[in-house]
Amino acid sequence: MANIHSFAADYSEARDKFLSAARIANATTARYDNPTKGPKGEALSTDVARIGPEDASKVVVTISSTHGAEGYCGSGVQVDWLATVGAGGLPKDTAALFIHAINPYGFAWTRRVTEEGNDLNRNYVDHSKPYPINNGYADIHDWLIPKDFGPNSVAQADAKLAEYRAKVGDKAFFAAMSGGQYTHPDGFFFGGGGPSWSNRTLHAIADRYLKGRSDIAVIDFHTGLGPYGYGEPITHYNIDSGGSRRVRAFWGESVTESKRGQTASAARDGLGHYGLNRVFKEPETRLTMCTLEYGTFDRESGQKAFRADHWLHKYGDPLGKEAAPVRAAMRRQFYPDTDDWKEAVLYRGHQVVRQAIAGVQLGAI
Ligand SMILES: [Zn+2]
Repeated sequence: MANIHSFAADYSEARDKFLSAARIANATTARYDNPTKGPKGEALSTDVARIGPEDASKVVVTISSTHGAEGYCGSGVQVDWLATVGAGGLPKDTAALFIHAINPYGFAWTRRVTEEGNDLNRNYVDHSKPYPINNGYADIHDWLIPKDFGPNSVAQADAKLAEYRAKVGDKAFFAAMSGGQYTHPDGFFFGGGGPSWSNRTLHAIADRYLKGRSDIAVIDFHTGLGPYGYGEPITHYNIDSGGSRRVRAFWGESVTESKRGQTASAARDGLGHYGLNRVFKEPETRLTMCTLEYGTFDRESGQKAFRADHWLHKYGDPLGKEAAPVRAAMRRQFYPDTDDWKEAVLYRGHQVVRQAIAGVQLGAI
């Protein structure tokens, strides 16, 4: 029976619940220590729980906290699955690998970004190649994050942003703002500066637990887009590829594919999807990955919370008294702390994981 108490009140509690649930499930665990600390000085780590045969050729993977503060959601599903389903939900030759808090800094500080300022879903680019160019971002950076965050100064910055948007059009405006940029580490959607700790850790985990497997499904939990409480499996495979056929076979009619224009999420470079699909390739491995994106509140309130968070960490004092309302707004935006939302998240989370477990049994299709 799904249990809303699987969700935690903060990062440390989430980690404790995850490790307790891993024990209940008889999972083997591993810890990857992050070099930074949380706001209360707490130690931070990514933790891994694995169940099923050592040599299983099929593995279902869940990832929580790619976008730090969104980690409450994925952590809750991971804890609930380990505590209530566990090995009994795995067919033969199938393992489950649960990656908890891949961005523990962001989870603990209630931010989307990593300690390097990275949006992890812009950081999985090939760092040996020149970074994607986003000239528009430099035009608006100072208006997105004005130094003076008082209402008058913010209103002036908003007027400048509106003027810019009218001049370049909606498409160019949103590409500049959220398409990803590789020049401003303290700015929105920064993806550069080399592979972040979280990126390197995900690859280390993949190397250790997933190499040489025939069928891998990955569910990366996110929040903030779409209808309240609904989880949308979003995918980025090329049309007519094996990946595209498999996502439909796994998740049915509810799956959305960016390459078919079925989702507002764009197939932009730097996504975890591309990071893992560069490592695991057919015919050795069939990797089938989705972002499970749960709706919370409207985009405008998200934008507002996100902006204040960037201001706090660029110009404010993240440990001062101005921090509490900023973190509270981020937390609410990415983790609606209500029973109905949690129930919906758990129901859908169990469903999508169960479908992935059934899906990896299909082999080549
Ligand atoms: Zn996200």
